[in-house]
This record gives sequence, structure tokens and C-alpha cells, in this order.
Amino acid sequence: MAEYDVLVLCNACGDLHPFGSCVSLQDGPSSKQSITDVYAGEDLPSNLAELKDKRVYCPKTGRQYSQKDNKKVFLVPVGLGTVRLTAVNRKT
Ligand SMILES: [Zn+2]
Repeated sequence: MAEYDVLVLCNACGDLHPFGSCVSLQDGPSSKQSITDVYAGEDLPSNLAELKDKRVYCPKTGRQYSQKDNKKVFLVPVGLGTVRLTAVNRKT
């Protein structure tokens, strides 16, 4: 199992915002990829499928939004050495 950060493209400002929680995936990607690319033609793991109903906070507009388009939801392996987003880890 690997841990992934979930980043969601914002409809309002066009940036990626973190969901603020990690997901564990059995066979996730080794680099940043959209959910559509990773699970083309497959069912989503339940812990990803349920993210669809959650809302993401946009620090620029101060509002929450939901992103239904899986092409705009990205998985980023935790600890890959890429830039870690320091933005708001909101716990709800
Ligand atoms: Zn935004």
C-alpha cells in the first residue's frame, strides 16, 4: 500500500488544492496522475469513489467546491520528493 495526496483542480481559480487527507492505494501511480488516467475503464477504489461527494476548500475564494470530473482530480505519491503542498490541511 502506498499513500497518496489528493489534489483537486479548482473551478474558481484554476489551481490545485489538496483534499487535506491522504488515501492508501494498492496499485496507485508512481507519479502524479489524474484518477481518470490511473483507473481508465476500471472501477474506482471505494476510498477514491467517496471523495467525489466531498468538498474541497479554495483558499483564494474562501469557498468550498466539489469537483466531479475525475480528470481534474490528481493522485500524488506521498514522499516522492516532489514539492509538498504546505497549504491548509483542513480537518473537518
Ligand atoms: Zn481555488
